[in-house]
Amino acid sequence: MAIPNAVAGLLRRPARLGDEVYSAIFARIMSGEIAAGGRIGVDALARQLGVSQTPIREALGRLEAEGLVSKTHLVGYSVAPQLNARQLAELYEMRLLIEPFAARKCADVMTDAVIGQLEALCADMAALVNEEGLDAYAQFGQLDMAFHDQIAVSADNELLLQAQVGLHSHVHLFRLVRDAKVTRTVLDEHEALVAAIKARDPDGAERAMRSHIERSHARFATA
Ligand SMILES: [Zn+2]
Repeated sequence: MAIPNAVAGLLRRPARLGDEVYSAIFARIMSGEIAAGGRIGVDALARQLGVSQTPIREALGRLEAEGLVSKTHLVGYSVAPQLNARQLAELYEMRLLIEPFAARKCADVMTDAVIGQLEALCADMAALVNEEGLDAYAQFGQLDMAFHDQIAVSADNELLLQAQVGLHSHVHLFRLVRDAKVTRTVLDEHEALVAAIKARDPDGAERAMRSHIERSHARFATA
């Protein structure tokens, strides 16, 4: 269904502003500039970012859907608290239910183009290895999320994808630890996973994903 260029342009323009505002608020939350549990002033943000309240409210609605922001009647918006130990354990139980199966199915049904995409994401993550600092770490978090989402997309099950995306794992996890060093360990785990998917080995892919998630849990639990 073709959309005339002029119309498509008009449709895209407000979306881009919305994305920029969303990214700016997201970065302030991830960096701790707006602390976990802290109030978010719509007026102040609108002034800081030089935009009206409308895109701010839209971005906050999106962050609310992602579980990063909550809205309370008469109080307004605040940043969701960090995951507690129980919520962390629950998140990993859900990941272990969903993601090893997604990896198995991906190895089984994906198109060859998926391999190139997964390898490109691995290469981008490898470029960040041994880098320290908030930017590199946040960038790594986004790439890690894209990598796991790509596997779920390629598993070709819309409900599975919704369940995985709905957990917002990486947003919550990468907020628990800030500024960590991007290490070789995670890259090795991802590469083992890609190798199994590339070999179209469902058992191996399931095992590699399970092991990656269990190790990830251990890393975040001690952090
Ligand atoms: Zn990962």
